[in-house]
Amino acid sequence: MNISKNISAVVSLPVISHHGAVDGVTGSCHRLTINPNFSLLIDCGSFQGAETSGKADANSPHIDFEIDSVAALIVTHCHIDHVGRIPWLVAAGFRKPIYCTPATAHLLPLVLEDAIKLGITKDKRLVESFLKVINSLIAPVEYKTWFSLPLGENAKNGEKVKFKFQPAGHILGSAYVEIDCHKHRFVFSGDLGAPYTPLLPSPKAPYKADTLVIESTYGDKNHIGRKQRRAQLKSVVERCLENNGAVLIPAFSIGRTQELLYEIEDIIYRSANNSTWQDLTIILDSPMAADFTAHYKKLSALWDKEAKRKLKQGRHPLDFDNLYTIDDHQQHLDAIEYIRRKGSPCIVIAASGMCSGGRIMNYLQALLPDSRTDVVFVGYQAKGTPGRDIQKYGPRGGYVVLDGQRVDIKAGVYTLSGYSAHADQSDLINFVKRMRYKPGHIKIVHGDDEAKVALQAKYQALLPECFVEIAG
Ligand SMILES: [Zn+2]
Ligand SMILES: [Zn+2]
Repeated sequence: MNISKNISAVVSLPVISHHGAVDGVTGSCHRLTINPNFSLLIDCGSFQGAETSGKADANSPHIDFEIDSVAALIVTHCHIDHVGRIPWLVAAGFRKPIYCTPATAHLLPLVLEDAIKLGITKDKRLVESFLKVINSLIAPVEYKTWFSLPLGENAKNGEKVKFKFQPAGHILGSAYVEIDCHKHRFVFSGDLGAPYTPLLPSPKAPYKADTLVIESTYGDKNHIGRKQRRAQLKSVVERCLENNGAVLIPAFSIGRTQELLYEIEDIIYRSANNSTWQDLTIILDSPMAADFTAHYKKLSALWDKEAKRKLKQGRHPLDFDNLYTIDDHQQHLDAIEYIRRKGSPCIVIAASGMCSGGRIMNYLQALLPDSRTDVVFVGYQAKGTPGRDIQKYGPRGGYVVLDGQRVDIKAGVYTLSGYSAHADQSDLINFVKRMRYKPGHIKIVHGDDEAKVALQAKYQALLPECFVEIAG
């Protein structure tokens, strides 16, 4: 069945449709259909928690849409909720180019290797053959460089499509993408960073957009300032350490972990006379996060001015004396057992960021019932994830179900709202306000309902003539 043909019968092309990130923040996958035989996918992420689209959800990340007309996949950045369904796309027969920035091209195979092992197969040979196909499809395109897509025999009336990546300041290699077709400029925001995201330069607004598809994770909130945020992290950690327990920080392996290391290094540097910080052990218990940290270090050319200045001063913002990296699985289990029995004032950073898998799960199972423990959330927790439940029920002494087991929460639970690799409401508004030529059509995706509605109202007030809709 040719779905795009059916679409073209009822609406005029090009048209944007969505295979995820419309009911929540995960599963990003948008489609720009240019003609019945030519469409582009922008991201192909997996779902987390209760979020779904069509038949696809966290447990069955199926490709439940037509892919014959898809000429290419354009990847904005390599967070799992933007790329996690790529192995399933390949399994469904997709053999077209996967365009992304060079840094994303570096990181993507690592992320997908993990996704394949967790979701498809642990068979080494199969994993390798999957990765071989994916690697052969990945095509890096530099930032700020137009790339023309051959429309070939599908071209009508001199139709042309080209796209360009622009820095999004969200994680290393992240981009928003501008797509030109029929003199119409489409902009897909991907995930936009906050101006004060450590390490990365902040995103600049596009010169113009006719149609904008924009994320709205924090469409109804504004973050606190950077200094205040660092002070908050410092005081929460100090409070947590008073009872000699562990401070667990669930964090995405890519982006958030490196930002935290960067901030912690800075706190240690500024607390030269404070033994709490000078003697504190920071455990990074995530082989993948360690891998990515190594890549972040290697790609320091993409860092912002402040981070580069620190390097010049001889500081190592992502690698410092108190940092201890756990790789081996037995070491991981030993560390948990040691902390559980003896208690130990330390910070543990482990994935996943929403507590829906990964090594943080073992820490939570062992340490949530211990009142010496504290959990500090620094990232967005999607509905239906254990992270959201701990965040919600933890402060009232509730429980959470982890791997089918009820775990009582005696640990302290804190949420640091200022830490986010996402633009807040004012950043999202500025992204549009600072465009030279403003959009006539805005589609809001990638957010909870309240965030989307709040942002819609703001955009509508800013641009009364613009058609501002919530994608559905
Ligand atoms: Zn992201
Ligand atoms: Zn996202």
